[in-house]
Amino acid sequence: MVSLLKWYYGKKNELYPKVSTQLLKDNHGRTINYLRLAVTDRCNLRCFYCMPEEGIDWLSRAELMTYEEMMRICKIAVKLGVEKIRITGGEPFVRKGIMSFLGDLSKISGLKQIAITTNGVLTTPHIPELKKLGIKSVNLSLDTLDRERFLAITHRDEQPAVIDTLEQLLKHGMDVKINAVVMEGKNIQDIVPLVALTKELPLSVRFIEEMPFNGGDKHYNSLVWDYVKILETIKKSFPGLTKIQDPAYSTSCNYSIPGHKGNVGIIAAYTRSFCGTCNRIRLTPQGMLKTCLYDSGVMNIKDLLRAGMNDDEIRTALLDALNHRAKDGWEAEQSAQHESMAAIGG
Ligand code: SAM
Ligand code: SF4
Repeated sequence: MVSLLKWYYGKKNELYPKVSTQLLKDNHGRTINYLRLAVTDRCNLRCFYCMPEEGIDWLSRAELMTYEEMMRICKIAVKLGVEKIRITGGEPFVRKGIMSFLGDLSKISGLKQIAITTNGVLTTPHIPELKKLGIKSVNLSLDTLDRERFLAITHRDEQPAVIDTLEQLLKHGMDVKINAVVMEGKNIQDIVPLVALTKELPLSVRFIEEMPFNGGDKHYNSLVWDYVKILETIKKSFPGLTKIQDPAYSTSCNYSIPGHKGNVGIIAAYTRSFCGTCNRIRLTPQGMLKTCLYDSGVMNIKDLLRAGMNDDEIRTALLDALNHRAKDGWEAEQSAQHESMAAIGG
């Protein structure tokens, strides 16, 4: 009897795995190890493809997740296998206290990478501190190198600040990716100059298909600038363009150009060719969990926290949500509405 009990206690964890030892996997067998956390819906730009010129109905303070709530969810997610968290928004640097939150986030044991997506308007002063915190990966949104077109796209004359951020990021040795949304009639003439940046600069320039998330009407009936057309346009000016190996779970198809220090990527965000290996979940500023960019949100985790659920209950709810995940963005979109990307995080 004694030896049977000894065996039982020795094996207990194996026989009854705790919820916390389970990893996030969805009902299609995809591992989830990446969380995109939108810390605010507010923004200091009004990008044409993201929100109307007059802005959107900003969330009230009470609707926003607090930093404490975000930390709690991040810790739970990391225990469930999330290794990378990207901070996005709205514009992350317009939310007060963001640096202190990033400091706390950087202390979560088991979290391997923190990355940021920013428009670069308020970013420069924070770069040394980001580096100190071990945050090296920054995606900078920049759709054009022309100041007037920047103003026309974003409705704000902030291009010099963004270029300064780009220079400072590179000076500090950060891993920089430029994100450029490709839009008919807006920045097609910028595709080649943006690619040309990679000749001397060690960065990645990624062209993104425009998605219908602008908080208003769709800008097109069918997408004109899909990845095929973007690729053909680049190839015409850079015939040496060569496909390179994409990192695991990459949403971009990546290319090198002989003699260039940087590389080029195309993100088929509208075509949705990468859903089969999607490893990411999203948390909106009001705490809505999105298991696909194209769904309308599957549950509000902030509401569960505020209802008094403990960590094990939140873990169970997360695992359950992943068990009902749409196969791809087309399936997810069927019951969804298109809001502003600032309310999603990209
Ligand atoms: N404000 C930050 C910025 O612009 O980098 C972070 C938030 S923004 C919503 C995240 C990313 O989503 C940006 O790279 C932006 O270009 C992209 N994005 C926004 N709206 C988009 C759309 N309709 N289609 C494709 N990409 C979009
Ligand atoms: Fe703001 Fe980023 Fe949306 Fe542009 S893409 S309006 S910078 S949240």
